[in-house]
Amino acid sequence: MIRFDQVVKRFGDHVVLDELSFRVGRGEFVSLIGPSGSGKTTILRLLMTLERVDGGTIHVGGQCLSHRLKDSGLVPADERHLRAARKRIGMVFQHFNLFPNMNVRQNIVEAPLRVLGLSKEEADARAAQLLQLVGLADKMDAHPARLSGGQQQRVAIARALAMRPQVLLLDEVTSALDPELVAEVLAVLKEIAASTDITILCVTHEMEFARHVSDRVLMFDHGRILEDAPPEELFTAPTQERTRTFLKAVL
Ligand code: ATP
Repeated sequence: MIRFDQVVKRFGDHVVLDELSFRVGRGEFVSLIGPSGSGKTTILRLLMTLERVDGGTIHVGGQCLSHRLKDSGLVPADERHLRAARKRIGMVFQHFNLFPNMNVRQNIVEAPLRVLGLSKEEADARAAQLLQLVGLADKMDAHPARLSGGQQQRVAIARALAMRPQVLLLDEVTSALDPELVAEVLAVLKEIAASTDITILCVTHEMEFARHVSDRVLMFDHGRILEDAPPEELFTAPTQERTRTFLKAVL
């Protein structure tokens, strides 16, 4: 579903991703862990086409994000192509970014109505179903300011899912939350991973969560993958010294 082939990303002289290659299969839950600055968020931003690659290619669902095929060969992707690609990818950030002037239902139906062209009935039915999934069926008419951080983040997750993405990107979705609200958000993500075939790429510092929910964990350092293993292997018997010191520091 996701394929990075020799992806290079630089900011000025700073090489953030250095010929990075990896694949994520349909329905897989893959966590990205590693020290601050190792390039994890940059990977998500490239997938959202908020950044462009400096080398290599990224494919999502078989479609190249950076180039498209024209009679003469490969040409850089234009805005229309990028918009179409973006529709298949949902992202939830550390800060929930809900529209403060809209209630929960309006937050969720806004993009499906405008971008997917769903009817009001379809969008409302989908919002109700998703709010049930994230345990907030009774908050349909509430405004974000009336909700706890954990509840707001669960609405943000429902809003991302309302676009029926094939891929969901999660960037430190619990790090802005009070510790007692973290568990409810992680439980919802666990439920989504178990009950849908959506492909999830999750940047997280929550090692226990990564351990319990991931199919694979990728350990990054300096824009490279140091280890790529199922969680039970990576957390109990890491092969790299750098992974061992990192885990010791965060666990
Ligand atoms: P963290 O865990 O702290 O979020 P990360 O692994 O997600 O870190 P990135 O945010 O991907 O790391 O950043 C990787 C490197 O790229 C960092 O050194 C960062 O300073 C640099 N970087 C990221 N975005 C930009 C930008 N827009 N301009 C310049 N440098 C950037």
